[in-house]
Amino acid sequence: MLKLMHASKIYDKSGVCALDDISLTVRAGEYVSVMGASGSGKSTLMHILGLLDTLSGGRYLLGGQDVSALPPASLAALRARRIGFIFQRFQLIDGMSALENIALPLMLQGVPPRERRARAALALSAVGLSHRAEHRPRQLSGGQQQRVAIARAIVTRPDVILADEPTAGLDPEAAADILALLQTLHQKGNTIVLITHDPSAAARAARRLYLENGALRA
Ligand code: ADP
Ligand code: MG
Repeated sequence: MLKLMHASKIYDKSGVCALDDISLTVRAGEYVSVMGASGSGKSTLMHILGLLDTLSGGRYLLGGQDVSALPPASLAALRARRIGFIFQRFQLIDGMSALENIALPLMLQGVPPRERRARAALALSAVGLSHRAEHRPRQLSGGQQQRVAIARAIVTRPDVILADEPTAGLDPEAAADILALLQTLHQKGNTIVLITHDPSAAARAARRLYLENGALRA
């Protein structure tokens, strides 16, 4: 599903080598966690895998397609179709209801309104929040907001779900709730890459990877 071949990322301005010769394959249906200290390159890796940034060297194959040299417009289209993102700070839009937030990626794909609503409602029910459809993000708890963000990530039925520290800002109970939800999504066949600095969160994944100074530790 995802394949990095000798991937490296050097930030032009700072000259920092954030990823150093990373080779990694994630197969369809796998649940992989990536751990590492602050500054080890976790977010950079997520940005690369999620087509939010491009490599300085090496290759990236997504679903068999080499995306290393695609122009930004093609990357954006692929990203919308194939990647579901979950961020630490939810990144929900405050002026929109939970349901509208979830439907937004479908709107950007040109899905008609009726189908958008139906699919968003389905995703909302998959995260157990059907009774909060019309609530605004600020009217929801942190854990509920993250569940809405997860619904938004899955509504497009992406090839891979990328979660960057999705439990870092939550209390232990809400964090456990989010991890259980990711587990359920994995059991339903989703491919998940979970980035975390929390060992107990990482332990949920069948396969655990460690980043150290931009390199994968065996
Ligand atoms: P993590 O998510 O593991 O904390 P990051 O991927 O955010 O690590 O950062 C890895 C390294 O790259 C750090 O040394 C960081 O300072 C540097 N870095 C991250 N983003 C940028 C950027 N946009 N420009 C320059 N350097 C960056
Ligand atoms: Mg980070």
